[in-house]
Amino acid sequence: MPTPKKKMLTAAQLEKMKAALIERRHEIQRLSLENLGDVEESIDEASGDSADRAAAALDRDILVDAAAREAKELHAIDEALAKIDAGTYGGCEECGNLIAMPRLQYIPNAKYCITCQERLEELGLLDDVRDEATPNE
Ligand SMILES: [Zn+2]
Repeated sequence: MPTPKKKMLTAAQLEKMKAALIERRHEIQRLSLENLGDVEESIDEASGDSADRAAAALDRDILVDAAAREAKELHAIDEALAKIDAGTYGGCEECGNLIAMPRLQYIPNAKYCITCQERLEELGLLDDVRDEATPNE
């Protein structure tokens, strides 16, 4: 295994982040299954009434949006897990510096350090600026 050029997380920290990522992935999968169940129920219940049907369709739209966000987050989590395996996890993809551990604990699939994240957001270079997990410091 090549030695990383930059200071990286310790094996214990990596284990911890891996566990957090896997847990988050389960959480998303569980939530999306629950949501799906709810919407299917409301579509079933929305029999004749067109207002009911409209409401059910709206629920479905919201769910589709949520599912898209979840899919994106799952993808980011898988990328982070792959980076842990590759030994590159924890480095900012923009400047290469190590992302601060508290930030990683808060957003285990963070790709950028807080400095780069803010700069990229300001420049409008991030497509997923709706990162609810980003703390407003
Ligand atoms: Zn950076």
